[in-house]
Amino acid sequence: MKEKINKAFAEHFGEAPSRLYTSAGRINLIGEHTDYNGEFVFPGAIDKGMVARIRENGYDKVRAYSVDLQEYAEFGLNEEDAPKAQWARYIFGVCREIIKLGKTIKGFDTAFAGDVPLGAGMSSSAALESTFAFALNDMFSLGIEKFQLAIVGQMTEHHYIGVNCGIMDQFASIFGRKGSLIRLDCRSLEYEYFPFNPKGYKLVLLDTVVKHELASSAYNARRRSCENAAKAMGVEFLRDATFEMLEGVKDKISAEDYKRAYYVIGEKQRVLDVCDALGRDDYETVGAKMYETHWGMSKDYEVSCPELDFLAIKAKECGVTGCRVMGGGFGGCTINLVKNEIYDKFIVEASAAFEKQFGHAPKVYPVVISDGARRLE
Ligand code: ADP
Ligand code: MG
Repeated sequence: MKEKINKAFAEHFGEAPSRLYTSAGRINLIGEHTDYNGEFVFPGAIDKGMVARIRENGYDKVRAYSVDLQEYAEFGLNEEDAPKAQWARYIFGVCREIIKLGKTIKGFDTAFAGDVPLGAGMSSSAALESTFAFALNDMFSLGIEKFQLAIVGQMTEHHYIGVNCGIMDQFASIFGRKGSLIRLDCRSLEYEYFPFNPKGYKLVLLDTVVKHELASSAYNARRRSCENAAKAMGVEFLRDATFEMLEGVKDKISAEDYKRAYYVIGEKQRVLDVCDALGRDDYETVGAKMYETHWGMSKDYEVSCPELDFLAIKAKECGVTGCRVMGGGFGGCTINLVKNEIYDKFIVEASAAFEKQFGHAPKVYPVVISDGARRLE
């Protein structure tokens, strides 16, 4: 990847010294539909990311080349200069959000490429934003705090892409650390690193390559259910609710709201249990909690789909330690914690069975927990 970038950069912008930066895609081990309930997520950066060569160019313009898309874009740094191409809008958005913080940046040249699969649930967009947020902060010595850099990426999505995402993806991309997952408290925004060194296991994502249309309306309905249940219990967020409190209001809320809240209250505890288990290197418990989350999301939160449930069942049959749907649901990936000795057999068997059932094979993405944003050269 580096060679491709170097070649493209030299071709477009010449050979003078430049810098090389990277940031990563991410997974979330557990803690799903928890962010808007004030609970925890538990992401980590992965060994797939974005790499950008970059150099100040002495103009007031950005000149950018996407090696993967083989597209060039040029744009100024004022609000009215927004480029048309979506990939370039991410870079433009990052520039604008940094400028909105009262910082001064100058024109630069960049060629970049990545190996985070697009739209597969590993947040290639956050890798892109975080690479440039980190690079510009470093290159122009802006002194922006890392958390603020993550917010720059998040606000880029909100204001220049039209995606109202939370902070997790950019946070993980910027803060990621090799061999560690990060528990982020979505209410206080405090975070803590936990060791994740599953010796003897691999982490692998199986992508169903489906996205059922229900996703956005169902998402809003789930949020409403959570609000209803929280209100009935007199708490601001389900974070502050317990199973006992939920039992106490069972007659006052709909059966549906009850089930949704039941999942969310359980999910908070599962994240905490996984963190404890990691402290003991107890990956069997980690895996068991992943399955619990999967079936909670399927039966109680009802955001799974036949393809995801099929993969979770298959994983269990094959002896996989942990498997669950990763992301909001209704399609996308499962994340699997798999013992080395059954890995090959699982991939072959699950892929073949899935293809027989649904007419196409799942995509397979092995991932290793790795470092987040940093300067490479
Ligand atoms: P994801 O879930 O992977 O973040 P998104 O739809 O949010 O998916 O972001 C994908 C977009 O990010 C692409 O449409 C493209 O604009 C940009 N992008 C991601 N990776 C690359 C890349 N390697 N080169 C150029 N643009 C990229
Ligand atoms: Mg994205």
